[in-house]
Amino acid sequence: MSSPALPRRALPIGRLRTPSYSVQARPVANQWPLFHQALPSLRVNRSFTTSRQLKSDSAAPDTEPQEPGIDLPRMEKFVEQLQPELRSDQFRPRDLETKYLETILPKDKVAKMVETTASTAQLRRELDNIHRVYHLSKHIARDPLSVPLSLPRPWVSNFKVQIEDGRVSMNGIEIPNIWLRDNCQCSSCMHADTKQRLLDTFDISADVSITSHENTPDGIRLTWSDGHTSEYTNRFIGRSTAPAKKRVGNRIGLADSLTLWDSSIASFPPIIGYSHLASKKSESATAALKGLLSNIRRFGFSYIDGVPADPRTTKSLLERIAFIRTTHYGGFYDFTADLASKDTAYTNIALGAHTDNTYFSDPAGLQAFHLLSHTDGSGGASLLVDGFKIAQDLKAQDRDAYEILSLVMVHAHASGNQGISIQPYRGFPVLQHDLETGYLLQLRWNTSDRARIELPIDQVGKWYDAARKWDALVKKKENEYWEQLRPGRVLIFDNWRVMHGRSAFTGKRRICGGYINRDDWISKFKILRDGQESVLEHLATD
Ligand SMILES: [Zn+2]
Repeated sequence: MSSPALPRRALPIGRLRTPSYSVQARPVANQWPLFHQALPSLRVNRSFTTSRQLKSDSAAPDTEPQEPGIDLPRMEKFVEQLQPELRSDQFRPRDLETKYLETILPKDKVAKMVETTASTAQLRRELDNIHRVYHLSKHIARDPLSVPLSLPRPWVSNFKVQIEDGRVSMNGIEIPNIWLRDNCQCSSCMHADTKQRLLDTFDISADVSITSHENTPDGIRLTWSDGHTSEYTNRFIGRSTAPAKKRVGNRIGLADSLTLWDSSIASFPPIIGYSHLASKKSESATAALKGLLSNIRRFGFSYIDGVPADPRTTKSLLERIAFIRTTHYGGFYDFTADLASKDTAYTNIALGAHTDNTYFSDPAGLQAFHLLSHTDGSGGASLLVDGFKIAQDLKAQDRDAYEILSLVMVHAHASGNQGISIQPYRGFPVLQHDLETGYLLQLRWNTSDRARIELPIDQVGKWYDAARKWDALVKKKENEYWEQLRPGRVLIFDNWRVMHGRSAFTGKRRICGGYINRDDWISKFKILRDGQESVLEHLATD
């Protein structure tokens, strides 16, 4: 894979923080976010330094007289100056090491030290860490990591499209001709119903140009050097220039607003009456379904009350949202506590708050439970914890811990069934963010199914420290919402946000339920809320 051209020098941090509409500055900001913009400081690195500091503090001062001490402020300044090189793919940590040593020691001494790896091994590791964290920053969000509490107000642009010297621009931002031609919305370039591209992008000449243009009541009409004519509205062009955060409502299907909650939600849990969903009037039934999905998007869960306590009705209720996902455990399930399935969820022991499917690359989006009967015993209350609320609390309490849980990849597995060991195709962090906006998208928290933590083994304690803080918040009484499920009440929750668990129980419990894919339920939510036409209209720009 070829890498994009590198900036020749580091851009001042301030220049990237303020929105820049300079055509030249934007791609630089997009591709090479400065570390200090992506992460507020070198804190992650500094925390990785602790083990070294402890080690050298406890060592006798004359054990390694050649080992230079690490002056962290000086190193940070040094690293700051080296930004362009650090962001180069050709960069080797050894070069940084050598340069750093040269700032504190005579050159001949440095040459000798670089040869004797053993005496500088610790320093090398520190520098590797800096290098690693800097490189990670390329792959994380341009904006600070955050929990998206509300949908940004729609992008309203009062700007008019400008055409000058054969270049289309709006508000000083140039729109490349190749993008405009490739995104012609006419029915011979784009299928009117499916919005699939009908033209072959690479049949368009790389230097396609505008031969003539005219204004239309709400935009422009362009004639291209290939003879084709295209029309664009001001709104369409405007959206293509909008800041990233103004474009995600449609793509991510964000709720209009998120309600983060704690145990107090017990007094006002979101509920939809089944009678509305089952209404003979299709508009009423659709409105109820929209209400149900809006509840789940906003709160992370919803109850449906008054559902006949049978698996068939429950299954068809779920299928109103989307098809039920089949996994190695099966599809829609209807079971009574039974050890045969070899997963802790199928026993009667207590389960702490967790998310399901961390062992899949794409964990289920929704999960549903319907307690059909509970006889000859008691217990088995359901626990829900709002993971996004915990994330918000952790971020306020300890930003370093939040960043570690957002950056360090964790692996997971499902190996309980004979002949199966499922693992995601790569590690994923506990807190997974949208790369463009920094918005928190997904929580993965399941300590039973956790496998490797993707850190050098001597650094792995940092993840445990951060995860312990997370765990303490999850287990705080104020954050736990307990509810006894009962026949007739279906619980559906967002497995990418809300953790679930249950208390131990005795007797026989019969439960049915299933999973629904995230993409499928968000699709349904978006279409019901915004309408098919609006969703499709935003595809090229959002
Ligand atoms: Zn066209």
